[in-house]
Amino acid sequence: MHLTNEQINEYLDNEIADRAHIESHLDSCGECAARLIALQTLFAELDSLPEVELTHSLASRITLHATSSPQLPRWLTLTATLQTALALIALIVAAPFVMNLLPAIEMPSFTEFLIQLQSQWITLFTTITNYRVASLWDQLPAFSLPPLQIPTLTLSLALAFASLLWLVGNGLLLRRQIK
Ligand SMILES: [Zn+2]
Repeated sequence: MHLTNEQINEYLDNEIADRAHIESHLDSCGECAARLIALQTLFAELDSLPEVELTHSLASRITLHATSSPQLPRWLTLTATLQTALALIALIVAAPFVMNLLPAIEMPSFTEFLIQLQSQWITLFTTITNYRVASLWDQLPAFSLPPLQIPTLTLSLALAFASLLWLVGNGLLLRRQIK
């Protein structure tokens, strides 16, 4: 009776109880001896294969990490964070100065610009609304205009002021970076 694959496996793993019986069969049976060698070769290959693959992938991953990917994004993130922090500081520093300066110098042209912007916005809005809900616009002319005017002005003011603050902050930051 030939050896089973399980018996050969156990023999190779040194887990079989009666090695003497297996060895005597292997000595007398070329077929089982050949299967043993085949299995031995297969196991040896299986043992070495994942190790080689793992080492290779780990090595390539380490190389990849070391050379390109984490270094640049990390550097960029750090720079971006630093810039944001500096911009924020610059904004806070610049805010009182801008607020003092704004009513004296900027206000007349600024207001004119805002009024122009608002009228343009209202024209645009009216055009869109007329186009979309012409009948509703005719029926309720007072419904749309009054609530629109105040939020638009407030929004425009806030937006323009924020933009101005941002520009001043960026200017200060830029000057600081050039130094
Ligand atoms: Zn046999």
